[in-house]
Amino acid sequence: MNRLSSTRPPADRASSTISLPLRLNAVREAIVSCAQCARLRTYCKRVAREKKRAHRLETYWGRPVPGFGDPEARVLLVGLAPAAHGANRTGRGFTGDGSGDFLMSALHRTGFADMPTSRHADDGLQLTEAYIVSAVRCAPPDNKPTPEEITRCLGHLGAEVDELPRVRVVVALGKIGFDAWLQFQRRRGLSLSPRPQFGHGVVAPMPDRDGIPQPVLVGCYHPSRQNTNTGKLTAEMMEGVFRNARKLAGLSPAPGRRA
Ligand code: SF4
Repeated sequence: MNRLSSTRPPADRASSTISLPLRLNAVREAIVSCAQCARLRTYCKRVAREKKRAHRLETYWGRPVPGFGDPEARVLLVGLAPAAHGANRTGRGFTGDGSGDFLMSALHRTGFADMPTSRHADDGLQLTEAYIVSAVRCAPPDNKPTPEEITRCLGHLGAEVDELPRVRVVVALGKIGFDAWLQFQRRRGLSLSPRPQFGHGVVAPMPDRDGIPQPVLVGCYHPSRQNTNTGKLTAEMMEGVFRNARKLAGLSPAPGRRA
């Protein structure tokens, strides 16, 4: 297993090469330096400059956020986009807000994460058999990227996925991640008819491409505060998706638990 962690200050996190294959690290650096979407870059920098009162003494990341996790992962998680005061602050996806803790708690209970929280990029968190990306790498205003921004960022998704050769299962966290993955597969020539529809727990097998099996797509409600506070997504529901992902990926049940 080969994973990313960092003990460097925020400004240097992107250039960390700790335990990362060279090509995956090059992909990460290309993401961090991307400036294709003027609207999003302007917004992220403004948020990083103005900050939230609770974090006013911190240095925000304020740049595009690459994926993180185990480069040998068989399970890929695709979220929506960095949160303005979460990943846009800490520089790591699903880190520094309630969504991150909710997600990591479920990943911890199902054997993918070695701790149940995700507070900052230097917390030592390590993922096993899981890698986390988002459809859009810059925090969008109101968490709503435009279709053009989603399409533009698919290039980064493809570049990162190409360096994760063992992925067998893609868990989409929310409808936007689900649809972005379908769009990505269509762009790569996959014929998807009928088009799979997003739903929590939905399992959508993909056809082969040029004789090469493609990862099965699994839907999961996004662990947003809106979903978790209202009970639309419970801890048990999210845990159930990850237990099924382990099965679909051919992984053994989480240690000490039934999968
Ligand atoms: S959203 Fe993606 S494509 Fe747009 S600037 Fe950020 S990293 Fe680049």
